[in-house]
Amino acid sequence: MAAEHRFLKFILPAKAFAAVRAGTKEWLAECPCGHKRDIWDSGGVRYKAAGEPRCLGYCPACRKNTMHKIRKKTEAEKREIP
Ligand SMILES: [Zn+2]
Repeated sequence: MAAEHRFLKFILPAKAFAAVRAGTKEWLAECPCGHKRDIWDSGGVRYKAAGEPRCLGYCPACRKNTMHKIRKKTEAEKREIP
């Protein structure tokens, strides 16, 4: 478990932690090269947030920091990146 999530688990009741996890699991970060990453698995948290911002993140495919697009997973992507 990522350090950020350990902290969340420590401060939140189990139910709230599960809700944050479920909310974040809806999202992915997409690199301009096409590499997609689960936000939760990369240590991120996104809960009750709107819009599709961009943020700087490390892409393991490019092996550098690139501007990732943050967006909701499609149904197919939810199966692909559970
Ligand atoms: Zn990339």
